[in-house]
Amino acid sequence: MLRNIRIKSASSIVTMIVLFVAVLGFSLFRTIDAANTVDTERTRTAVAAAVQAQVKQIIVMVDDNALWDAAATAVYTRMSDTEFFWSSWGYSSAEGKYFDTVLVLDHEGRPLLGYHHGRATRFDPIARYGEPFRILLERADRQRQAVGGLAGSADGPVLIGIANIVPTNGALDKLVPKSGPYWLVFTKPFDQGAADQIGRSLLLEDMKLSSKSSGKASIAVRDTAAKPVADLSWTPARPGTTALERVLPWVAIASLLHILAGLFFGRQALRSVSKLADEAMVDSLSNLPNRRAVRRELDRRLKRGERLALALIDLDGFKGINDNYGHHVGDRLIKSIAMLLQELVGKNGMIARLGGDEFAILVPGASAVNELQDISRAMLDKLSRPFRIDERTVLVGASIGLASVSLRDLDSSELMRRADVAMYSAKQAGKMRLAWYDEMLDQKQAIARTIEAELRLAIDAEDFELVYQPLVDIHERKIVAVEALLRWSSPTRGTVNPSEFIPVAEETGLIDAMGMIVLRKACRDALDWGDVRLAINVSAAQLRNPEFASALSHALAETGFPADRLELEINESYLVYDPDAAGRVLREIRSLGVGVSLDDYGTGHASIGFLRQFSFSKVKLDRSLVTEAGLSEEARTVIHANIAVARALNVAVAAEGVETADQADLMRVAGCDQLQGWFFSKPVAGREIAIRVLKDHPEHPSSRLRAV
Ligand code: C2E
Ligand code: MG
Ligand code: MG
Repeated sequence: MLRNIRIKSASSIVTMIVLFVAVLGFSLFRTIDAANTVDTERTRTAVAAAVQAQVKQIIVMVDDNALWDAAATAVYTRMSDTEFFWSSWGYSSAEGKYFDTVLVLDHEGRPLLGYHHGRATRFDPIARYGEPFRILLERADRQRQAVGGLAGSADGPVLIGIANIVPTNGALDKLVPKSGPYWLVFTKPFDQGAADQIGRSLLLEDMKLSSKSSGKASIAVRDTAAKPVADLSWTPARPGTTALERVLPWVAIASLLHILAGLFFGRQALRSVSKLADEAMVDSLSNLPNRRAVRRELDRRLKRGERLALALIDLDGFKGINDNYGHHVGDRLIKSIAMLLQELVGKNGMIARLGGDEFAILVPGASAVNELQDISRAMLDKLSRPFRIDERTVLVGASIGLASVSLRDLDSSELMRRADVAMYSAKQAGKMRLAWYDEMLDQKQAIARTIEAELRLAIDAEDFELVYQPLVDIHERKIVAVEALLRWSSPTRGTVNPSEFIPVAEETGLIDAMGMIVLRKACRDALDWGDVRLAINVSAAQLRNPEFASALSHALAETGFPADRLELEINESYLVYDPDAAGRVLREIRSLGVGVSLDDYGTGHASIGFLRQFSFSKVKLDRSLVTEAGLSEEARTVIHANIAVARALNVAVAAEGVETADQADLMRVAGCDQLQGWFFSKPVAGREIAIRVLKDHPEHPSSRLRAV
């Protein structure tokens, strides 16, 4: 997709440039063509005018010579005066500058005398020049003034000027015959010389006179009957073209600049398009591909039928780090995790950040399953050690869900879903774990959804039972405390184990309401049990709720249960991943007078530091340790060490899950203060506890119990 966007953008930029050049070229062409056309038209008019100017010249010339007393006198009185005629016109015709032929015609147009190139001649002009000449004569007769025009001839076109020979002096008018005045005719060839003269006057190169019309830049030379007798043609100046030739370098530079600017801005645009496209595929914080990118990669590879394994990684405790240390620490952590993943995965696979604290690893190939399993293990191993971010040491966990595809049986959504289901199950199994997808997990999910729906109903109806398991003191084995344990019976599944429904309640947030039901119910139940302390289990999810401490104080006030008889059992996972937030909420709890004990002690990360930091009132050695104590010397050593630490910090120690007398003895020897387990009592109903409390403390139960 990214490539497509780039190709599309690049081709649209190229198209834009091509269009720009085309439009520029076209408009230049149009302008030049228009300029050229206008000029050619103007030149045509000018050439036509120049032809008329030559006609005019011969008219003026003939008029000058005809309207002349000496000429009139000679013509009408001394036709034999050849000297006069020669010196006046014959000579000039030889010179040929203004005319090369002169004729004197009587009024009917019959030739009386004439010269051609200085030689006496006499010819019939109507026979030679035809209709155009006749028209001129008629016109001259009608208008009684000199006329002129062009006519064709065997030797080519000629300019003709005709005028009546009349005296200017009125006294001589009587010389003119009654039939009408004679005609003076001057002719001059309209030849290449005439054309050259026009060309020169108009600054047009190679003005040519030809008998045929030729091309665009030409005009037809017409006789007085409007018949074309020749063609004047020339090389058009094409000022547009000339101008273009002059401005072309500048236009080229300007265009080049435009194109460069276009390319520059185009590249900018392309870059921003690419950036947008990249942003759509890349996570800006980690610079890793994002969810869309993995999906695309998955689709691509699955389409090819490749073998694939996919891991979804969800960090544990990330939110706490963000909330407590600020987003910059959270951001740095994400970057560190991204780098760690890149180190682990190398070039064998693709890493992506799906958002928040979720990452994905995609490994292709036949050995993808093993490779991804190794990578995931290494990842968990690395995460089990704290990260250093600036001056801080932070600890995050991760739950990794894995899924693979070997046949063309899955699409990317299903593969993602499977990895997600597996990740969920890893989280439920206690974090810092990896889990492969298994069809059973889908069933578990389905069950979880049923449980969720049923739990909601149970919460509305407060339909839960509480049982209480006693904790006895090590010496007299009398009840010093009871732990409230939740029991729930699903309408469809019967009794459901807390380990099954509590995680569902935690995930769905139902734990808050459920926890409060437990708290109020247990406080009410235990109100009459003398000084026996009440232990209530609280999930990390409950402590994350900022309302928790005030809800607790409210429940105490509501039930009237003394805060100093209450202790909350919390699991270490919350403390480990979010120590600062945990510290705050634990302080709030203690400020109410409520004690806090650490449940399942000895199984995880809890260290001396933790015990000191959170000042627990009690730690409860996990059942697994107690069970093992009877089996291995090593386990006993661990227990001794753990107990020694707690005692050194003045924290009471209880052992849970004591099932045998031997275990009870071992725990006593190891230094426990309290014991809890089936060996003493299974969890029992509240009524039963009331009876046992009375039995254990018939006289002054409160004075004895408070001692622990
Ligand atoms: P936990 O707090 O560690 O509770 C001890 C678990 O060990 C209880 O299981 C108890 O019945 C069982 N147990 C006690 N003595 C023995 C023994 O000698 N042998 C064996 N095999 N088991 C023994 P249960 O009641 O199933 O509770 C499981 C977990 O569910 C509890 O572990 C606690 O974490 C959680 N839970 C129970 N009730 C609540 C509750 O009201 N709220 C919350 N948040 N969690 C609860
Ligand atoms: Mg407990
Ligand atoms: Mg426990």
